[in-house]
Amino acid sequence: MPATPAWPPKSLPRLFIRRPLSEGLILDLEAAQANYLGNVMRLGVGGELLLFDGASGEWLARIAEAARKRMTLTVGRRTREAETIPDVWLAFAPVKRAQTDWLVEKATELGVARLLPVLTRRTVAERVRLERLESIAIEAAEQCGRTLLPAIDEPVGLKQLLGNRDVARTLYFADERAGEPAIEAFKPGPALILVGPEGGFTDEERESVRAARSSVAISLGPRILRAETAALAALASFMAAAGDWRPL
Ligand code: SAM
Repeated sequence: MPATPAWPPKSLPRLFIRRPLSEGLILDLEAAQANYLGNVMRLGVGGELLLFDGASGEWLARIAEAARKRMTLTVGRRTREAETIPDVWLAFAPVKRAQTDWLVEKATELGVARLLPVLTRRTVAERVRLERLESIAIEAAEQCGRTLLPAIDEPVGLKQLLGNRDVARTLYFADERAGEPAIEAFKPGPALILVGPEGGFTDEERESVRAARSSVAISLGPRILRAETAALAALASFMAAAGDWRPL
């Protein structure tokens, strides 16, 4: 006997809604979202989908009215509480736009809680467009089943990052030259992972990070990884070590 399929099916479309959701709420969708449901997903009146608002969890909704580029939804019951994820932040030196976009998408999928673009001496990136990174994070969260969105900070200089940080949050500094094997170094508790630019940190920067309180240098292996690869390798291994890798 085939198992009773889970309800709602994980294949229902998922949309992020920029306002608090609650049962019984009547919601007019943004034109782009209405167009997506109507013309891409071919959904009409009675069609069901999942919504999340980045705070209260996930909700089942039904299309109540549909017209060209306009849709009204009725919000039904909550299908999931907001996710609980390890408290890990990722500070990264922005790289080329395509790589930075890719990094934000993948870090969102992996469950990062906050993204902090850091400007270092050898950072050669174009201007960081936060609204663009936010829309990439929203799409990744819609696709991978997240109910929270990572916060994305304005870029800051390395000095400012080190100066403003809460030392109760351990700083795991990805250093290709020397460090503890990452998987052994990671300890339970709030974490900030720092990864350098393609050109690496200057010696002066490396010293300032190593001298910072509750800073731990981590190694991601004997090979020199590209900055975006190092960021994801560190994040993925932290999530695994923190017990995040279990089915929904
Ligand atoms: N320019 C540096 C060099 O050639 O020595 C390499 C920089 S690497 C492309 C970019 C960043 O990724 C580094 O600053 C570091 O944070 C991280 N990284 C790369 N490989 C790593 C490794 N094996 N262990 C720890 N961190 C690594």
